[in-house]
Amino acid sequence: MSNLEQTLSIIKPDAVERNLSEEIKVEFKNKGFKILKDKKIKLEKHEAEKFYQVHQTKPFYDDLCSYLSSGPIVVMILEKENAILDNRKLMGATDPTKADDGTIRKKYGISIDKNSVHGSDSPDNAKIEIDFFFKD
Ligand code: UDP
Ligand code: MG
Repeated sequence: MSNLEQTLSIIKPDAVERNLSEEIKVEFKNKGFKILKDKKIKLEKHEAEKFYQVHQTKPFYDDLCSYLSSGPIVVMILEKENAILDNRKLMGATDPTKADDGTIRKKYGISIDKNSVHGSDSPDNAKIEIDFFFKD
């Protein structure tokens, strides 16, 4: 059965800063993702806090929000069959040292916080996150 999905992807400041945005977009395209929309923006800290509010009780929350708002990011709507799960697979584990070979985090991630990409983790969150950045 067909399951065309959209998911929200972010190329995080560590990767944008190293000029890896185009290379990472090619990784997605090579795996069959269509980039429906993309834009380069810089968040204010209060916007990063809103985006990551599900993590507000975690010890890393403040550093995470400071980091995501520390420089330009590229936000994208990716589309393909099973986009949400397939994007999580292509990204690899949160900690790049634990990510499988061939994943984006294994290839480009620097550390658990500077792990180069974000991807929605469920259909509900994909919708919330797409609306967060691309609501008309
Ligand atoms: N993070 C961190 N320290 C941790 C766990 C997570 O800095 O111990 C950061 C990391 O950048 C991660 C983000 O918080 O990408 C969101 O965490 P989550 O568990 O949702 O990981 P993800 O969904 O990004 O793999
Ligand atoms: Mg997550």
